[in-house]
Amino acid sequence: VDNSNIIVLKFGGTSVKDLDRINAVTDIIVKKYQRYKKIVVVVSAMSQETNRLIQYGLDLGGDIADREMDALLTTGEQVSMALLTMAIKKRGIKAFSLTGWQIPIQTNGVYSNARITNIDTQKILAQLTEQTIVVIPGFQGVDLDGNLNTLGRGGSDTSAVAISVSLKARVCEIYTDVKGVYTADPRICQDARKIEALTFEEMAELASEGSKVLHVRSVLFAAKNNIELRVLSSFEQNVGTVVSNEEKINQMMEKTLVTGIAHKTDEAKISIIGVADKPGVAHQIFKTLSNQNIYIDIIVQNVGQNGKNDISITIKQNQLKQALAILQKIQCDQLICNDNITTVTVVGFGMKSHSGVATVVFETLAKENINIDTITTSEIKITVLISKKYTELAVRALHKAFKLDQEKGMLL
Ligand code: ADP
Ligand code: ASP
Ligand code: MG
Repeated sequence: VDNSNIIVLKFGGTSVKDLDRINAVTDIIVKKYQRYKKIVVVVSAMSQETNRLIQYGLDLGGDIADREMDALLTTGEQVSMALLTMAIKKRGIKAFSLTGWQIPIQTNGVYSNARITNIDTQKILAQLTEQTIVVIPGFQGVDLDGNLNTLGRGGSDTSAVAISVSLKARVCEIYTDVKGVYTADPRICQDARKIEALTFEEMAELASEGSKVLHVRSVLFAAKNNIELRVLSSFEQNVGTVVSNEEKINQMMEKTLVTGIAHKTDEAKISIIGVADKPGVAHQIFKTLSNQNIYIDIIVQNVGQNGKNDISITIKQNQLKQALAILQKIQCDQLICNDNITTVTVVGFGMKSHSGVATVVFETLAKENINIDTITTSEIKITVLISKKYTELAVRALHKAFKLDQEKGMLL
C-alpha cells in the first residue's frame, strides 16, 4: 500500500455526543474521504460517558485501576465506533470498525494508565487498500494476556497519534470543541486567542501543565516521530492550530517570547518538615512513593539546618490520601498538606534565548498582590504555585502582561 496519503482523524467526546453530532462529523469524514480516500478515524466515547461509567464502577466497589474497570470503560469508545461506522455506511461509503483487541493495539498491562507497545497495521492496511474507511476506538488496547487496558484520561489523542505513527500517516487531525490550541484555557480567559502554530516542545509543556486540549503523551509521541498534528474544531470550519517541529514553525510565523499560559487546579502540596539531612533520605521517600505509582510533579528541598531538612512535593489531589499514608511512616517532625493550590505556567520557546520573562511574571503577580508559594522552571517555562482563589486572576493578568490578547504578542 502507498501510505503517503493516509490521513488520521480523531474526534473527541463532545464532537460525537449525540446522533446529530455523529452525523455532523460524518460530513467532515466524507469530505476528507472524497479527497484522500485513505482515511482512518479514531473516536472517543460520547461526552460524559467515561465519567458515567467510572461512577457506576466505583459505586459497585470497583477500583479505578482494576481489570474490570478497564473492561467497563472501553465500552464507551466501542459504542461511538459502531455508531459512527454505521453513519458513514449510510452515506454509501465503505466503512469498517476495528476495536483495540481486533487490530490488535498492544499495551503494557497497566490498568487505567497503559502504554501502547505495538500496533499491528495489517488489518487496517487491508481495509485502506479497498478504500474502506477504518473506524477505531481511542483510549484502549489489549495486553499480552488478552486483558483490556485503557490509556489514561484523555488518552484517545494518544491512540490517534500512535496509529498515525504506525501507518506513517501524513497528518493527524485532532477535532475537538474549540477552534484549536489557545493562548490560555478559553473557559477562564475570555481574551485567549487561537494559536496559529507552535512547536511540539511548547505543546508538550502546555499539555503537561494543564492545557488538556491534547493528552501530553500524544504530543511526546508525535514529537519523537515527527508526525504533524492539527487541532481543529468539529463544529465550524477553520484552519485550527498546527503542532510541528521547530523548523516548520519558524517558517510559518514570527517568534514570540511567550506562547501560552496553562494552569492546573487538581494538584496538592505536601511538605515533609524536619527529615534527617543525610544521604539516602530523599531516595527512601521517592522510592516508596513511586513504588505505589504516585506521580510527583514538583519537588523542592530547602537548605538544611541543624541536621534537618524540609522537602515539599506536589502530587495529584486524588492520590493525596494514598501518599499521606505512605509518608506517615517516614521519620519527620511534621507533615503539612494543602490542596488549596493552583500551578500557573508560562510557556514560550523564546525563553531559551531571552531573559526577563521571570521578572515580568513576578512583577505581574506582585501588582495583583498574589503571593508565590513555589517556583520551578525549565528551559521554556516558568511555573508558580499560588493559592487556588487567585487562579483566574493570575492567568488573566499574565495573559495581558505578555500581550497574548494582541495579534502579534510580544515579539522577539
Ligand atoms: P475532546 O473531548 O475533544 O478530547 P477535551 O475536553 O479533552 O476535548 O479538550 C478540549 C478542551 O480543552 C476545550 O474545551 C478547553 O476548554 C480545554 N482547554 C484547556 N486549555 C486549553 C487551551 N490552551 N487551548 C484550547 N483548549 C483548552
Ligand atoms: N473517553 C476517554 C476520557 O474521557 C478518553 C478520551 O476521551 O480521550 O478520558
Ligand atoms: Mg481530550
